[in-house]
Amino acid sequence: MIDTHCHLDGEEFAQDLETVITRAREAGVEAIGVPGIDLKSCQTVLDLCHRYGGYCFPMLGLHPEEVKSDWREVLSHIRQHLPHSTSIKAIGEVGLDFYWSREFEHEQLEAFEEQARWAVELQLPLMIHCRKAQNELVNILKRYKDDLLGGVFHCFTGNELEARELLSFDRFVLGIGGVLTFKKSKLPATLAEAVPLSRIVLETDAPYMAPVPMRGQRNEPAFVAHVCRRLAEVYGVSEEEVSRLTSENAVRVLGLK
Ligand SMILES: [Zn+2]
Repeated sequence: MIDTHCHLDGEEFAQDLETVITRAREAGVEAIGVPGIDLKSCQTVLDLCHRYGGYCFPMLGLHPEEVKSDWREVLSHIRQHLPHSTSIKAIGEVGLDFYWSREFEHEQLEAFEEQARWAVELQLPLMIHCRKAQNELVNILKRYKDDLLGGVFHCFTGNELEARELLSFDRFVLGIGGVLTFKKSKLPATLAEAVPLSRIVLETDAPYMAPVPMRGQRNEPAFVAHVCRRLAEVYGVSEEEVSRLTSENAVRVLGLK
């Protein structure tokens, strides 16, 4: 399995990172994608992925909730990291989030579009975070559709229509995590109806979004196995099949190996 989205550089893991990584390896996690969210974390992500080179891979970007009035300056600093490391596998996590606030709506739109242009220019995939903003997001992505290498719509929790719209970007996949395992989640039905396994990658979004039966605890990459198991139930295939296919998808979309 590949955990395509995990905030391993967070302080939540500062005390026991080594054992978290060991448990991930023991659970069958072959690689972990670690996204940056702001200038500081872009550095900690690079440091961590250097330390666990070949196992953890970095993605760099400015998260929509971190976009403030100084976004241009922050982006110019993050941009300086990009050409210097061939190990960077994606621009992310980037996107739009109007769930809590639209205070920086305009800035978010501009910052996302700027980073989408980086993805085109550097031919890197996008790791996209989108909440309460799919229309706006799709409008921006459409402008670059033909030139984008692809990417992941991380933490997908939408309905069938939203799934179909996102999958119309044919080099993109949906990142599926702990929400799939929640008791009242409509996601199993949505996926079964509208999303083939060839368009799914696994993720934890740790330390957030722990899957059942770990719900409420700190999430960690080893727990991606619970997402894999639930997907196997949803699609009526073996866990091995889900793990093989989703890893193939991650390797393809994120250019791993
Ligand atoms: Zn994230």
